[in-house]
Amino acid sequence: MNIQENIKNITAELPPHVRLVAVSKFHPNQAIEAAYEEGQHIFGESKVQELNAKHADLPKDIEWHFIGHLQTNKVKYIVPYISMIHAVDSLKLLKEINRQAEKINRVIPCLLEIHIAKEESKFGFTFDSCKEMLQNDEWRELKNICIAGVMGMATNTDDNAEIRMEFRKLKLFFDELKAGYFPQTDTFREISMGMSHDYHLAIEEGSTLIRVGSKIFGERIY
Ligand SMILES: *Cc1c(COP(=O)(O)O)cnc(C)c1O
Repeated sequence: MNIQENIKNITAELPPHVRLVAVSKFHPNQAIEAAYEEGQHIFGESKVQELNAKHADLPKDIEWHFIGHLQTNKVKYIVPYISMIHAVDSLKLLKEINRQAEKINRVIPCLLEIHIAKEESKFGFTFDSCKEMLQNDEWRELKNICIAGVMGMATNTDDNAEIRMEFRKLKLFFDELKAGYFPQTDTFREISMGMSHDYHLAIEEGSTLIRVGSKIFGERIY
């Protein structure tokens, strides 16, 4: 894998409103450093312990995005430095992020994870449960989080029409939330969708943050 070549090729074709989150989970620091040297400063990780170790060892101007499922009891470890949390799927988690951020006077940008794929998943709001959460005004009291948009993962399939339809639904849902709950809020602006095999489709359907791992760093060893 030529990491620097991959970063160069992917970023060269990105429209100006789309940012690349380089998903470095399970890859060593040297791989991240190679991407960093090519100008990539946003990295995505999905395990708290791994992220903490990498954050300690790597350049301090890296923007770390947490993209995995986050347990409430681990929020406190990443809140001091995390730039964005992509997969918030409960009011309880939002409240805990707010509580920890309040202690250190930070405001954490969070994305609401929406379940758009056909596969069963324990994680992610449904369209309805997300609207239900927003209709109740409790989240408006949380001054140390900022709901910055939505995040979703399409079905793992070769059926591009299906993937495109799921991304399109997420974009429409984003538009609906924007009009209904965030009309005056410039910071509600992110649609995190698109991975190695489907980010071209995601960009066509309105993504603002693509999360690309294996296409940059190669296959992960689990
Ligand atoms: C691992 C992961 C990615 C990156 O997947 P690739 O197929 O390697 O690009 C993107 N998003 C999430 C939530 C992930 O867990």
